Amino acid sequence: MLAAKVIMEQGVVVEGINFFTGFCVEGHTHAIRKKDQEKLKRNNALWSAEQLGIKLHIVDIIDEYKDVVINPKHGYGAHMNPCLDCKIFMVNKAKQWIEDNGFDFIITGEVIGQRPMSQRKETMPVVARESGADDLLLRPLCAKNLPVTLPEKEGWVDRNQLFGFSGRSRKPQMALAEKFGFADYAQPAGGCCFLTDENYSVKLVDLWKARGSKQYDLDDIMLLKVGRHIRPSPDFKMIIAREEGEGRFLQGYKGSFIYMNTISHRGPLVLIDGSPSDQDLELAARITARYGQGRDAEKVVVKIVQQEQEKELEVSPLSPDEIPEEWHV
Ligand code: SF4
Repeated sequence: MLAAKVIMEQGVVVEGINFFTGFCVEGHTHAIRKKDQEKLKRNNALWSAEQLGIKLHIVDIIDEYKDVVINPKHGYGAHMNPCLDCKIFMVNKAKQWIEDNGFDFIITGEVIGQRPMSQRKETMPVVARESGADDLLLRPLCAKNLPVTLPEKEGWVDRNQLFGFSGRSRKPQMALAEKFGFADYAQPAGGCCFLTDENYSVKLVDLWKARGSKQYDLDDIMLLKVGRHIRPSPDFKMIIAREEGEGRFLQGYKGSFIYMNTISHRGPLVLIDGSPSDQDLELAARITARYGQGRDAEKVVVKIVQQEQEKELEVSPLSPDEIPEEWHV
């Protein structure tokens, strides 16, 4: 918002681009869980564009982005976040976009030193160079610490009115936000994407390991955001709804998975991913029983639906110590 506003103040027409990778935290995840009910249900990119009064283009990059996640040339950050490659990729896509849409240059809100991996003084030129954007990439918030870009050389933008922010402190940005009258803004901390999340990254690695290849589709990565994941064997994994909202979300996947739920007692919907044997399904039924209201009952009836064939199994629920920690993904 700040970078856009700084440039708009100079009379330049700005439009926003939001890339949808499938790993975005916003969109649907906040709407599912009870604990996130306090959070405003809004797409921050759309909301920010509305505040600025600019157009926003949401660009789906799900498929092309896979190569960034699977083979990041510059490696991963603390978790499975390939931030540097991700930025290079997105700036490159933005460059293609401005060429196709008759725009002259690209701005980002990056600040030197703000993020340990992707926003360092050394990485700023790497993003500009490897994306192919070179001097078409202007970072209005830290431009004074960087070489002069084409928009400045050409006089489209006055360098004197740009900023030289650096470091992790966000105080100067907050002061500028106040000056512009931005009382509310998207919280920058905590990451905008699930690849920075430790638990999520563990689940993604587990998925790749189980499949024997680093591939995924949109449903795979959506499902990693939802439910309790338990892998009792390399052949199958259980995705167990933890609350009503998750149960409703998982309902939508019943057509593509084996699924089960307890019918003698209330209990969660469970999806089974993989190729379980009959013995595996019995074990899964016992685990399913453990997470329902029949957890202390001697016997629980579990309905299993596999390729539209239904069967019922009467099982005894596993006790918590029969579900080892290492099964929890
Ligand atoms: S946090 Fe996610 S979206 Fe943001 S730069 Fe890193 S990998 Fe890309």
